[in-house]
Amino acid sequence: MNFQSKLPNVGTTIFSVMSALANEHQAINLSQGFPNFPTSDRLIDLAASYMKKGYNQYAPMTGLPALKERIAEKIERLYGAQVDPDQEITVTVGATQGLFTAIATFVQPGDEVIIFEPAYDSYKPAIELVGGIPVPYPLPAPDYSPNWEEVRQLVTPKTRMIVFNTPHNPTGTTLKKEDMEALQALTRDTDILILSDEVYEHLIYDGQEHQSILRYPELFERSLLTYSFGKTFHKTGWRIGYCVAPPHLMKEFRKVHQFNVFTIMTPIQYALADFMAEPEEYLSLNQFFQQKRDFLLDNLKGSRLQPLKCEGTYFCLFDYSDISDEPDTAFAKRMTTEYGVASIPVSVFYSDQRDDKVIRLCFAKTEDTLKQAAELLQKI
Ligand code: PMP
Ligand code: GLN
Repeated sequence: MNFQSKLPNVGTTIFSVMSALANEHQAINLSQGFPNFPTSDRLIDLAASYMKKGYNQYAPMTGLPALKERIAEKIERLYGAQVDPDQEITVTVGATQGLFTAIATFVQPGDEVIIFEPAYDSYKPAIELVGGIPVPYPLPAPDYSPNWEEVRQLVTPKTRMIVFNTPHNPTGTTLKKEDMEALQALTRDTDILILSDEVYEHLIYDGQEHQSILRYPELFERSLLTYSFGKTFHKTGWRIGYCVAPPHLMKEFRKVHQFNVFTIMTPIQYALADFMAEPEEYLSLNQFFQQKRDFLLDNLKGSRLQPLKCEGTYFCLFDYSDISDEPDTAFAKRMTTEYGVASIPVSVFYSDQRDDKVIRLCFAKTEDTLKQAAELLQKI
């Protein structure tokens, strides 16, 4: 059959590739980002009970009112912002769909979209699929802290959107107040939209505060924000998240959302609404994951993998240049097949496949798993 691929250069995502390789070789999988410990029993019981009670038909298109109210309460508690659950929150199929729908809603053919690289791998294909032009800004390694003057130079009359992510996957770095102020100055008096991927809002360490767009009312007016319950409640397979945006942007977002998703699993939304009534469930997540980060780093002390700064997310980057000068994709593969630990090579997150000899390890794992992985990595 004759047809033209809309994404001719896209293969299978690195996360599926490395997880499959880990399974094939029975390696410890620190590649794809997902916890290997269970989600809460209470949450599972709640979801099952709502299914059994018959809450199994379509939920309202924009999300269950009770769940959106809990989300609005959380936003006010954490960021001091008041959002209208009815007009400014839409429940989505994970953050992935929120990101995709936001891009599909606002990016027209020929529009430029600035992305910060290394960039989470779904941004670029989503932009390309709707005819937009990704404009990569390489964050300067090894700090990965943006130079806003350099970002400014990428802005043209065609710039429609800036996509960024804090805490940042894959680098584990975070944006600071000064970054948000620079972004505010950069976009002031323009029509540039911001797509802020905040899936790791609760995974931020060493006493830092997450710099949500929600703390900056001027920025919020031009922004769409995406979140993931998968990250927050250890259940990436349930595929649920939400998008927050001011009414004038959310109204357009929902026009697209209703025809590619319509609505999200009803019993899960009821279960989450009940579960979120007790904020303790997510308020201590930073300590929980900070301990895991420290556990992995302690167990890797003395190894030839050099950790880079990790301020948030459940990922940490490691420089392996003391061990090998082979490309990071080859090294990550060999680490899986010969040493029994799967990781993610960071070059795949760059448009030009730039190779700084760093790999990403996921520490959302039990201490047993992290200990076993560290023992294997110490031998390299
Ligand atoms: N953005 C980033 C930066 C992520 O790391 C992920 C997934 N790990 C997502 C978006 C997608 O989240 P979800 O699983 O809720 O679709
Ligand atoms: N976001 C996760 C990661 O960075 C994986 C998501 C996926 O597999 N698509 O590892």
